[in-house]
Amino acid sequence: MRERDLFMEIWRERPHFCTGCNKKLDHEAKAHYFSHIIPKGRRKDLKLEKDNIVLECIECHTLWETGSMEKKRKMLNFEHKLKYVENLDYSMYYKMKFI
Ligand SMILES: [Zn+2]
Repeated sequence: MRERDLFMEIWRERPHFCTGCNKKLDHEAKAHYFSHIIPKGRRKDLKLEKDNIVLECIECHTLWETGSMEKKRKMLNFEHKLKYVENLDYSMYYKMKFI
């Protein structure tokens, strides 16, 4: 499955809200709304894994990619992400939980 097809499937299945801050997303499924919990560069095998993708507004997506852990911890979906990462990437989990 191509990434865009997967994005459209997710867009059909989930409410169009940012899971990081609860903001309503636009009608159009913009590519930057699809945020990988475990980054593509870190785990290519999870790039097309639906559970590894959350809907986020551009601010939250950018925060998740480049922000400080302190700010990331304040995101509404942080616990959800932590739970997902725990079973798949222990070093990322450890960083999220303890550093
Ligand atoms: Zn947001």
